[in-house]
Amino acid sequence: MQAQPKASHFVNGAYLEDPAGAPIDVIYPATGAVIARLHEATPAVIEAALASAKAAQKAWAATRPVERSRILRRAVDLIRDRNAELSLLETLDTGKPLQETTVADWPSGADALEFFAGLAPSVTGETVPLGRDFVYTLREPLGVCVGIGAWNYPSQIACWKAAPALSLGNAMIFKPSEVTPLGALKLAEILVEAGLPAGLFNVVQGRGAVGAALVTDPRVAKVSLTGSVPTGRRVYAAAADGVRHVTMELGGKSPLIIFDDADVESAIGAAMLGNFYSTGQICSNGTRVFVQTGIKDRFLSRLAERTASIRLGDPLDMETQLGPLVSEAHMQKVLNYMQIAEREGATLICGGGRAALNSGFYVQPTVFANVTDDMTLAREEVFGPVMAVLDFDSEDEVIARANDTEFGLAAGVFTADLTRGHRVVGQLEAGTCWINAYNLTPVEGPFGGVKLSGVGRENSKAAVEHYTQIKSVYVGMGPVDSPY
Ligand code: NDP
Repeated sequence: MQAQPKASHFVNGAYLEDPAGAPIDVIYPATGAVIARLHEATPAVIEAALASAKAAQKAWAATRPVERSRILRRAVDLIRDRNAELSLLETLDTGKPLQETTVADWPSGADALEFFAGLAPSVTGETVPLGRDFVYTLREPLGVCVGIGAWNYPSQIACWKAAPALSLGNAMIFKPSEVTPLGALKLAEILVEAGLPAGLFNVVQGRGAVGAALVTDPRVAKVSLTGSVPTGRRVYAAAADGVRHVTMELGGKSPLIIFDDADVESAIGAAMLGNFYSTGQICSNGTRVFVQTGIKDRFLSRLAERTASIRLGDPLDMETQLGPLVSEAHMQKVLNYMQIAEREGATLICGGGRAALNSGFYVQPTVFANVTDDMTLAREEVFGPVMAVLDFDSEDEVIARANDTEFGLAAGVFTADLTRGHRVVGQLEAGTCWINAYNLTPVEGPFGGVKLSGVGRENSKAAVEHYTQIKSVYVGMGPVDSPY
């Protein structure tokens, strides 16, 4: 299986190669085979990307918003027409089952482009009457934005950042994770085919150093990162030097609270989706599942039964529900967390190790019960299919324990008592919450975290704040009243 792109980078409207860059092998996680070889961006590639973005952005900002939207809408149609081939590439890049990528990855990316194409023409300033004089405001693009992506939803992340940036008149340089570099190149190709002028969406490949070079360039006005907390801290600090705008979408250890009056089958379904979908590699996963003691036994036995029926295997088989982890190194990290959980006294309910497949980075979907707040499994982000079930008795207790974390990305509550649902969510320290649902992130709703999980919001009208700035214009309508 091969997935070699035409070249490593996409700069100024075309593919670009510079073989002088260090090699990046792209590995299909289901077999361990190398499916493409790319090169890291050299300083010359980075410079070309920055220069072309800077040169193209002013004219784009001056283009009528409906014209910008028309181009993005054409890209939406191209993505939807090509969903099958794009989803296949996403599966090869990430190892996620085709069953998922076909409905989740590029489709949600297309939704984002469609949403912001529709929204951008209605983004306006306001007029502030001051008697004789007045102030009016202009909502202007920021300029050149840098997007840096994680490897779990590479194409969705590229679209979620490109859509608000481009629709509102910015240029973007996107650096995918070096682990999953392929999808963003396709987005660049499709945008140009749809009519996007050259230079407005560039893709440069590389590891952290390439991202760092972009973040500190004086031409860059904004940085949007999806990644881990340690990387977020570094990128935020580097961006602060130039007082740049930032959006930080970082990690989490989110609570999913299940009260004993909940619809247990739905709650189990949500807990499984929120721990096993994308092989558990989702930042907003509900990885601390708090179950009220009255339903604990019923919850665990049905959970074990339903988990046993999950179909692991070849991601290209549409029946496969759980694929491999993204890389061998990541698999080792996840296996290590399983061992730590056992060592620290958690009760293994199912799974707990590598899956018996001939090749690939597969682990079993795993559930630990009797997890306590101080265990490593309850404190650190595993980013794999490992569910921690914790017991609780009272509402006040579970709220305090749910909030006892440095993260604050997401949270969920399952209860038949909607008054309680709203009351609990109102007290949870999390940027994105669900009541009787989990992990649904439609583009119409804001997404993002509080505390160490990040700043800023992606998606929805909220993203407009993060890709524009306000210019305030005072208009004097009469003679200047001066005491001098
Ligand atoms: P990393 O933090 O390791 O990397 C994120 C991106 O930042 C990669 O493209 C990486 O490049 C790049 N990078 C690393 N160092 C620097 C630097 N100094 N300057 C600029 N860029 C740098 O995250 P992962 O890719 O491992 O993704 C998993 C993490 O992402 C998890 O913690 C997860 O929770 C989080 N995440 C958050 C989401 C959210 O929306 N809140 C959504 C999805 C994931 P390279 O990989 O090439 O080194």
